[in-house]
Amino acid sequence: MTTAVDEHQTQAEVEAAPALPDLTAHDRCDRCGAQAYVRVILFSLNDLLFCGHHYSHHEAALDEHVLRIKDQRSALDSLTPEV
Ligand SMILES: [Zn+2]
Repeated sequence: MTTAVDEHQTQAEVEAAPALPDLTAHDRCDRCGAQAYVRVILFSLNDLLFCGHHYSHHEAALDEHVLRIKDQRSALDSLTPEV
């Protein structure tokens, strides 16, 4: 009789990085104080919070400094229709 050893790893185990916490209504854009929908972790390990507007504005400039991003703008789209 053989004992099957299941050694396949999940993608989550391979990546091993802890998930960034969800943004909440208490998280505010560092620029304007509106509710933040994007959390940016820089290589310096500073984290920045942006509303959708300001993230879009700074996205290109931030790109080379960004370690990780938590982008919840899709939630924004489903909650608040464009005005
Ligand atoms: Zn803002």
